[in-house]
Amino acid sequence: MKIPFLDLKAGYLELQPEIDAAIKRVLNSGWYILGSEVEAFEAEFANYCEANYCVGVANGLDALHLSLLALGVKPGDEVIVPSNTYIATWLAVSQCGAIPVPVEPDPLTYNVDPTRIEAAITDRTKVILPVHLYGQPADMDPILAIAKKHDLRVLEDSAQAHGARYKDKRIGAHGDIVAWSFYPGKNLGAYGDGGAITTNDAELADRINVLRNYGSRVKYVNDVLGFNSRLDPLQAAALRVKLKVLDEWNARRSNIAECYSDELKNIGLLLPLIPEWAKPVWHLYVVQHPQRDNLQKQLGEADIGTLIHYPIPPHLQAAYAKLGFGKGDLPIAERIHQNVLSLPIGPHLTTNHLKSAIEATKVALRA
Ligand SMILES: *Cc1c(COP(=O)(O)O)cnc(C)c1O
Repeated sequence: MKIPFLDLKAGYLELQPEIDAAIKRVLNSGWYILGSEVEAFEAEFANYCEANYCVGVANGLDALHLSLLALGVKPGDEVIVPSNTYIATWLAVSQCGAIPVPVEPDPLTYNVDPTRIEAAITDRTKVILPVHLYGQPADMDPILAIAKKHDLRVLEDSAQAHGARYKDKRIGAHGDIVAWSFYPGKNLGAYGDGGAITTNDAELADRINVLRNYGSRVKYVNDVLGFNSRLDPLQAAALRVKLKVLDEWNARRSNIAECYSDELKNIGLLLPLIPEWAKPVWHLYVVQHPQRDNLQKQLGEADIGTLIHYPIPPHLQAAYAKLGFGKGDLPIAERIHQNVLSLPIGPHLTTNHLKSAIEATKVALRA
């Protein structure tokens, strides 16, 4: 019995009639770029996120990049990013010609530690870019207070946190603008690439709207240097179906996380810590162990699929050699990257598979 880390096809099969009908509706409409299907998804997702506006774009990286441009980030500016994140967060900054300035995370929540942010602010800092990593909201109130004090803007990378709540309010417009990915494996995933921004700021929404479509408001009239980064109507139609089940599918993830947290206590694993103000959506269930590689190997031998999010932190990637960071410069992120392991989780992990994953983990750590 092979237990996959995540079973995407099972997600399609559960919704097959509705997804097939939605795709067919787009094909039959004769309209294949932007249009009513994208607009309907934008309205529904904005409503879900408790935000005033949503603009669909081509993917999560573009959502981050266009958001930074809309916030006015220019070459040479600095943007504060977490040291512990997927490299896309940093790449969006680099795509603007700006410099990612890493801040270390709280080692227990994995999210950026607000008490370390002020030390990283310089007169070139323009934006603070927290990530709601692994589906858990970052501590937004202190981040927003620091931004206000230093006259900075806040962009949230919410690629892993569809539906999460910070102090009872959905992630979607705590900061100035929020970037989303609908990569298939995300909590709200398309059948291909997709992304969006949400915001309460009409001007920012309008700027993204223009930037994603060749810098144009009126066809063949180009106001700014734009991009082609539009949410595909086929993906929008599928996302409308999946948005309806997002809360239910997130609840399944929560149940799995609760089982892991109950069953895997006191066996030498560091389990996720959830602050009382956070309602996470468990994009990943991440544990830490000092012999992580050995644990992953043993779980693999027991046919349990696990992944590492992430094996190499951005500052130690060859792509960022130019920034001049070395081993030991960001020790908290480096230790996290050495010790983390993501256990199987998803809305279609069966009870039997969950039991097997728990049992195999217990056996591996007893040995
Ligand atoms: C997935 C992801 C992205 C990028 O999304 P794409 O749609 O793949 O471009 C950005 N940031 C984080 C934290 C992610 O997990």
